[in-house]
Amino acid sequence: MNQEEFFKKITSHAKEYGFVFPSSDIYDGLSAVYDYGQNGVELKNNIRQYWWKAMVQMHENIVGVDAAIFMHPTVWKASGHVDAFNDPMIDNKDSKKRYRADVLVEDYIAKIEEKINKEVEKAKKRFGDAFDKEQFVSTNARVLDYKKEIEEVGHRLYAAMEANDLAGIKQLIEDLGIVCPISGSRNWTDVRQFNLMFATQMGSVAEGANEIYLRPETAQGIFVNYLNIQKTGRMKVPFGIAQTGKAFRNEIVARQFIFRMREFEQMEMQFFVRPGTELEWFKRWKEERLNWHLSLGIPAEKYRYHDHEKLAHYANAATDIEFEFPFGFKELEGIHSRTDFDLGSHSKYSGKKLQYFDPETNESYIPYVIETSIGLDRMFLAMLSHAYTEEKLEDGSERVVMKFPAALAPYKVAILPLVKKDGLPEKAREIMNELMPDFMCQYEEKDSIGKRYRRQDAIGTPLCVTIDNQTLEDNTVTVRDRDTMEQIRVNANELYNIIRKKVNGK
Ligand code: ATP
Repeated sequence: MNQEEFFKKITSHAKEYGFVFPSSDIYDGLSAVYDYGQNGVELKNNIRQYWWKAMVQMHENIVGVDAAIFMHPTVWKASGHVDAFNDPMIDNKDSKKRYRADVLVEDYIAKIEEKINKEVEKAKKRFGDAFDKEQFVSTNARVLDYKKEIEEVGHRLYAAMEANDLAGIKQLIEDLGIVCPISGSRNWTDVRQFNLMFATQMGSVAEGANEIYLRPETAQGIFVNYLNIQKTGRMKVPFGIAQTGKAFRNEIVARQFIFRMREFEQMEMQFFVRPGTELEWFKRWKEERLNWHLSLGIPAEKYRYHDHEKLAHYANAATDIEFEFPFGFKELEGIHSRTDFDLGSHSKYSGKKLQYFDPETNESYIPYVIETSIGLDRMFLAMLSHAYTEEKLEDGSERVVMKFPAALAPYKVAILPLVKKDGLPEKAREIMNELMPDFMCQYEEKDSIGKRYRRQDAIGTPLCVTIDNQTLEDNTVTVRDRDTMEQIRVNANELYNIIRKKVNGK
């Protein structure tokens, strides 16, 4: 199965099993906006909780906030979003399709990376066990040519983006001979800047309405509350403020399902530190955030860092944690050392001193900030694509199983009476009532037990508990494991501990 087919399977599975639906589905959907269904909302809540627990509950010096989506319009002036939150766009005159100009070039680079991967695969087959990937990619002439081209194209793109040189980006697209994937033509318009913020009106027009924005990131809600929280929480630097919530971006091209949406959710933490210590903290957060991902039991080779060489003017270090999605390695989370840019700028625009008096050094300063910022929906997509597995079973049948980390699975346990009579449903309900306050349980009595197991596999339920006639005699049940499909017989009194052990995400 190639990657495109695999991705299609994930998206249709997500719809078929109540994870993700297009928004306003009965009206044929709304572009790049999605709703989470009965299983999706559980998975999403569990990811959010897993993050919150790791960031807030497990750190004495990090607290939360829940700021409003609407903010004073000057916030976005101070943050630089009004003037600079732009993406370069370009249209193809034949297909009338609009593209992000930088993404066209990045896709071109990705194609060269694919060619390198193909060379590696070919060589692997040829050399067998003796194959040394590192040596091959650093010596093979064809691979070296590809790498050189990637570097040159990347360099031209970043230089043009940095200098806001729109004509230079267009020239690059022309020089590379990039064609529109729809029309196949090179008939491009000029590149123009497009601001990604959604604007709306606050108050009635008669009152004199104010133009305000839907927030394009949650971070600013943290910065404007810095002083409130530092003072009322008596927080001592270094400390952090965490927030999860919706953000809105009028993305020029929104594709790849929930990877790039116009309404999405972020989980962000701003960590305030003493100036001069920020690069140390940046390093720590870089490691800690990768460890958070790995703690879910996902193989390390699915992740990589992408350190930024070209930095935003306010940053002095930045990296992305990339995940290998079905369409390649892409940004999942950003970690940025933002200096005192945000608090400094808000101080200027608001006229309020956003400082910290450090009792250890006896001086006042604007703290420096390390930001960790992850898209909840992207993490959801990462989990969907990691979990989706097609398996051939020994009896020749097939199953689709969602191998979610147990801590994130929508339902933790399914309660299944073997038959719908002989008092088994009543006994099953009794067992379920005991477990429900602590775990998401699903009760199912329809269809054969085999079919019910398949349905639970398809939504990723880690454990199935089956109640049969023997249960009525000695209170024992069978517990089936989603991944190994092995069954053990245990006393129903042990279920709480068995499930707890399986699903705790420590
Ligand atoms: P990209 O380069 O993919 O547009 P970005 O660098 O603009 O992302 P940030 O502003 O750093 O992203 O936002 C932090 C995180 O928010 C990203 O790592 C990503 O997980 C998530 N995110 C950003 N834009 C979107 C979107 N349109 N849809 C879903 N998630 C998003």
